[in-house]
Amino acid sequence: MLFVFNVPSQLQLSKDLPSFTTTATTRTTRNGGAGMEKTLSNQEDLGGDQGMTDDIFDESYCEKDGPKPARRYVWRNIVLMSLLHLRALYRLWLIPAAKPVTLAWGKFLCFLLSALRITMKAHRIWSHRSYKTSLPLRIFLAIANSMAFQVGIPFASFHVPQWARDHHVHHKFSEMDADPHNATRGFFFSHVGWLLVRKHSDVIEKGRKLDMADLKADKVVMFQRRFYKLSVVAMCFLFPTLVPWCFWGESLRNSIFLPTILRYVLMLNATWLVNSAAHMFGNQPYDLNINPRENRLVPFGALGEGFHNYHHTFPYDYSTSEFGWHYNFITAFIDLMCLLGLASDCKKVSKETILAQKICSGDGSHKSG
Ligand SMILES: [Zn+2]
Ligand SMILES: [Zn+2]
Repeated sequence: MLFVFNVPSQLQLSKDLPSFTTTATTRTTRNGGAGMEKTLSNQEDLGGDQGMTDDIFDESYCEKDGPKPARRYVWRNIVLMSLLHLRALYRLWLIPAAKPVTLAWGKFLCFLLSALRITMKAHRIWSHRSYKTSLPLRIFLAIANSMAFQVGIPFASFHVPQWARDHHVHHKFSEMDADPHNATRGFFFSHVGWLLVRKHSDVIEKGRKLDMADLKADKVVMFQRRFYKLSVVAMCFLFPTLVPWCFWGESLRNSIFLPTILRYVLMLNATWLVNSAAHMFGNQPYDLNINPRENRLVPFGALGEGFHNYHHTFPYDYSTSEFGWHYNFITAFIDLMCLLGLASDCKKVSKETILAQKICSGDGSHKSG
């Protein structure tokens, strides 16, 4: 089942568009400072789904006056992250000596599974609740989640609830102090720097106020959280190493450094580009007043997560893009899961709403294709 939502915006108040609302609340988009009025549907209008409103930008939030707090470095993360990247770079010379099947394993299968975890589970399901999943699919995604091992602060802990909490405050307080990877603090900070310093007190304060009851009620998420460290060691490091070593006789050194360490570093950076490059470089066809952009390169690495101006404008759309399968492997995968009966209730914004949004708030780039 596909839910198509018509969210009224300023231009969309025209009578010929399908009406979906009963009441509406008003907010002012502020990221670009233009102060444009935008009307959004309230929770009731959106089917009573909390996931469709608690990731909408919060206009009531104001940054605290006075000087910014001093940066407090997390030296353990700095050392471990530096060693990890230096190790991956240094071992690039192993690539020509590796068996082709090992490279295929490392750069395709593991990367794909890891990306599936980030984009399908923690992001589109748990952060935005943009579709529903069956138990077998959730178990599969929990395994892929451990394979991805997104690092946090401290280094060893960034399970689904924590990832989802950070992502919620990113949407609600985008480009402000309460945004964990506030892109106005520069490319490096939004890419990886935010993992190397203590969080701003507003990130912690606002994050604590979020309702994460649905995640706590999910047995698969809680089981994975309970055994997270063990599952990370098994799925992120042991499994990718042991398969080439045991099944096609790859050397232990190549098995450790190519499908495990190098794949892991590439996957981390592909994910981080959504927070950095996709907040700085590209067009703004849906909302000129926010920083997130439509970046043409990021979707290649993040398998469909680079349509970021669209995503921040319509965070509850399961496809995170207007264009379906176009450069969006994850959407194709979710559609396949729906076909197999393993996923359902995908939320999608109507073409009329998207067009109205573009005309009302976009930068006009959609006219040039
Ligand atoms: Zn973003
Ligand atoms: Zn998001």
